This record gives sequence, structure tokens and C-alpha cells, in this order.
Amino acid sequence: MTKEELWQAVLAQIQLNTSQANFATWFKKTSIISYQNGEALVSVPNAFAKEWLENKYGKTILKILYNIDKEIKEVKYIIGKTELKVFKKSTFNLSFNNQNKNEEQIVGQLEFEEFKVNKETNLNPRYTFENFIVGSFNELAHAAAWAISKKPGFVYNPLFIYGGVGLGKTHLLQAIGNAIIKDFPNKNIKYIPTEKFTTNVISSIKNQTIDSFKEKCREIDVLILDDVQFLAGKEKTQEEFFHTFNTLYENNKQIILSSDRPPKAITSLSDRLRSRFEGGMIGDISFPDYETRMAILKTKIQEKGVNFSSDILDYIASNIKNNIRDIEGALNKLIIHQKTTMSTLDIEKVKSLLKSLLFHPNKTINPKKIIQAVIDFYELKEKDILSSSRKKEIVEPRHVAMFLLRKELKCSYPFIGRKFGGKDHSTAIHAYEKINKEIAINEKLEGDIMLIKERIYGG
Ligand code: ADP
Ligand code: MG
Repeated sequence: MTKEELWQAVLAQIQLNTSQANFATWFKKTSIISYQNGEALVSVPNAFAKEWLENKYGKTILKILYNIDKEIKEVKYIIGKTELKVFKKSTFNLSFNNQNKNEEQIVGQLEFEEFKVNKETNLNPRYTFENFIVGSFNELAHAAAWAISKKPGFVYNPLFIYGGVGLGKTHLLQAIGNAIIKDFPNKNIKYIPTEKFTTNVISSIKNQTIDSFKEKCREIDVLILDDVQFLAGKEKTQEEFFHTFNTLYENNKQIILSSDRPPKAITSLSDRLRSRFEGGMIGDISFPDYETRMAILKTKIQEKGVNFSSDILDYIASNIKNNIRDIEGALNKLIIHQKTTMSTLDIEKVKSLLKSLLFHPNKTINPKKIIQAVIDFYELKEKDILSSSRKKEIVEPRHVAMFLLRKELKCSYPFIGRKFGGKDHSTAIHAYEKINKEIAINEKLEGDIMLIKERIYGG
């Protein structure tokens, strides 16, 4: 194994258990410089990353390296200027038993998406129609997307795709963008996650650059806004988007939207935007059935150039039912294991490898994460929500946070009381019961809490 292969194997394992943002922050510009005499020397971009890797990931990195090469007993970090290589391969190919395998083949799978995203369009070329598998669960959405890619602005406008997490919305949206770039190279295409759009609106209001922001938006020919459910409750952003939408629409520019639910079910969305969203084509993506899940698995292993026995594929398809991202995650985990141990997997090993994935699907959450999600959602500061302020716009979010601490984490009432500025446990009980009652009759609040939960578990 070359040192590059070795480091790629380490990164691949870390990536599986790290959020994409964290991964990009801490591992983007790392590389292995040497490994000899039991010591691996890792280059990091700056002192901050050095400290973080040493303290936070040091043990894990050593463990992974040791598992691959029992000679390695120590890892040292130095600040250097290396860049992670960018691998320009469109098809993944991992061939373990091939004596002539080259570096690109081995690491093709381990590409890091951040490096490939087109700076102009924000599109990731990895998402194409060619590698999008169509089944009855996504047929309609796919057909509409395909039609739009052929005649942007003139078939369905807007196109609104909705469906649950990990079922291919982003893939499909980006596939449209990538197909349009190919056929209409002069079109100005922009893919924007809604949260990014919101941040841009807020910061350009703050910096008094909103006019030039508007200008830029209106020059777009194909606007792809992903996860518009995050517009809920963001009035300023909704207003800005409404005007952009109208200008683009009137000029036959294509607008493509995705959401985790239909427009009707997005609470705290202005009626005028909702009716715009409903004015074009709405396509849903539901869950793939067993046969389709098998087809997805077979296609993916073919793309990656690996092979697993049919009982292994059956095990994955039978156990991961409603999230294609999780299916890919399981597959990657097996591939990495196979690659690092150079062994063939049997079903018992697969069961034990996938255990954590199958039976603890949720990321670990904690009170801090819940409180953060609540303040982000209501756009408050932590000190507001932890204070004793009785302002209505603070009291309700505080109650919601208390409710979620109880409901999601089963925190004790005295703990919750203490957390919120040393209040009595009866305050926490009151907050919990109040919100619990309220959501039964207040649809908006119920929707808000659903969105907050999504941030807690999704982010
Ligand atoms: P969503 O945006 O709905 O949460 P993504 O588009 O991010 O889901 O899809 C999650 C993962 O599953 C991605 O890696 C994507 O490429 C893959 N995927 C989803 N649907 C399909 C499909 N129909 N064919 C192939 N891969 C898919
Ligand atoms: Mg998505």
C-alpha cells in the first residue's frame, strides 16, 4: 500500500462517522508524508487543525492505521502545505483482486465531493441522470425532471419535487442542472440549498448589498432551490424569494424546487408563495420497494466494481427500507472493510458490521444540540432563551426547548429547570404540558416543532 492509499483508507473510515462539514473542515488538506519505524507523519494545514486532530481524532486515526498496518504505533502531526489530490473520475471502480489496480481505481470511490463542486453553478457533477435509478417510486418526478432538462423554462414551471430524507431529491435536482449545462452551455444555472439562500439574504440586508444580490438572482436562467421547507418562518427570505420567483417566472426562466413535504404541508409559508409553488408541476418521490432496493444495490456495486453475495445484498435490501443514502452508507462500510482487510465478507460479518447503522439510525443528540436547533429556528440568541424574559417571542421558544429536552431526551424536570436559568422543576413541567397540549390544536406550532426536530436529527 502506498502512503496515499493508506491515508485514503483512514479518511474513508473517518468520513463514515463524521458529518460532512466536520470532515471538510478538519481533513480537507491533510495527507500522510511518511510512515517508517512505526511512526506515521501526517501533514495538516494549520495549527488549529493540528491541535484538533491530535486531541479529537488522534486515537481514532492511530487505531485505524494500526488496524491496517500493525507496524504503526505512533502518529505525529506537522503543519505543512499539502493539498488532497482531486481525483477526476466519473465512474467509481474498486477492484480488490486486480493485481494491476492503480491508485485512481482504489481511491475513486473515496472522492470528496467538496472538491468537485462547480464554483459557478454549485453543482456536483457526480449527480447525473445516467446514475439515477428509476423505479415506480420516483418515476413521475424523474420524468418531469427529464422533460425540463430538455426544454428549461418551457414545460413545467416551477417543478416542485418532494419526498423524505435520502431518497434522491438533491440527486435529481442536480441531475437536471448538470444535463442543462451540457446541452445549453450558455445558460446561467445556480443550485442553492435554501439555508444558504437564507444566509445570503440576511447578510446582504445587513451589508446593504441587497440590490446587487437581487440583480444577481435575476440574471439566473435556471434556479434550483433545494429543501424549501427551510423557508418556513423566514419572512424576509420568503419575501425576497417571492420577488425573485416572479421575475424569473415572467421571463420564462426555469425554477426547480425540492422539499421534504408538499407545499400544502409547509407551515409558516406565506400563502402567495405556496400558491406559486403549487402553480407548476408537483412530483413526489416515495419509498423504493424491495425489488427496486435490490436493483439500486446491484447497480451501485457494479459502479464501484465490487461484488457481494446475494444473501448480503438481500440482508441490506431487507433491512434498510426508506433511505437510499443509508443503503449507500452500508455498502461503503462493507467495501471499506473488504478493502482494508483484503478479505471476503460473509453474512455474519456483514451483520456485525452493519449493526450500528441499522439499530442506532439516529445521530447522538444532546441538550446543547436541541437548544441550538431551537434558537436557530427562532433566530434568537442563547442568552435570550436561557434568561427569564417574559416577552412572548422568547417565552414560547423557551417552552419549546424545554418540551423537546423532555420529549426527545427524557431529561428530568429539575435538570431542565436548572438548565434554563435555575428555574424550579414545576416551571419545566408546566412548559412541557403547555406545549404538549398546544400542539394538539395548533397546527403551526406542531409544524414548527417538526422542523426543529428535523434540524436536531438531520444536522
Ligand atoms: P435527498 O436530497 O432526498 O435527501 P439525495 O439526493 O441526497 O437525497 O440522495 C441520497 C443518496 O442516495 C445520494 O448519494 C444519491 O446519489 C443516492 N440516490 C438517491 N436516489 C437515487 C436513485 N434513484 N438512484 C441512484 N442513487 C440515488
Ligand atoms: Mg437533499
